[in-house]
Amino acid sequence: MICGSMFSGKTEELIRRLRRAVIARQTVEIFKPLTDKRYADEDVVSHDANRLSCTPVSSAMNILLLFQGAQVIGLDEAQFFDEDVVYVCRELANKGVRVIVAGLDMDYMGRPFGYMPSLMAIADDVQKVHAICQNCGAEALFSHRITSGSNLIHLGEKDHYIPLCRSCFSKANFAP
Ligand code: ZN
Repeated sequence: MICGSMFSGKTEELIRRLRRAVIARQTVEIFKPLTDKRYADEDVVSHDANRLSCTPVSSAMNILLLFQGAQVIGLDEAQFFDEDVVYVCRELANKGVRVIVAGLDMDYMGRPFGYMPSLMAIADDVQKVHAICQNCGAEALFSHRITSGSNLIHLGEKDHYIPLCRSCFSKANFAP
């Protein structure tokens, strides 16, 4: 598991690990939820435009249907997968597949996001990556929304959010 706020380099870390697998001549497949339409549909795209080919799926179970026997599976934007993603990751891992999952650990209110907590619980290893607080320069854990609305799907569109540390996030959201 690779998790953190927006701008924390989750996708970059996912791509770094997948590229190393490719260099090691391992077969790699990448999936992401169909809801992530920010960039080119067939690519996992990080903000620095590193990219690897990727299959968008409308449900987590489709990963098992489309799985072609790769040694390493990458899942990006995992916070948007349905609950079956937990079963799917466990099935693949039990088959000996190395499953690398990247996603937002918390939504814009600082709440655990989707099935990320369950995935973190069953993972062999969890890495939290951090952005830099735009307000004070400390390590940032939170994706603070700077536009109105409560649609979680907006999470990911970077012009609507800034990374904040716990102290600045708390002042921004909960100060009187
Ligand atoms: Zn701060």
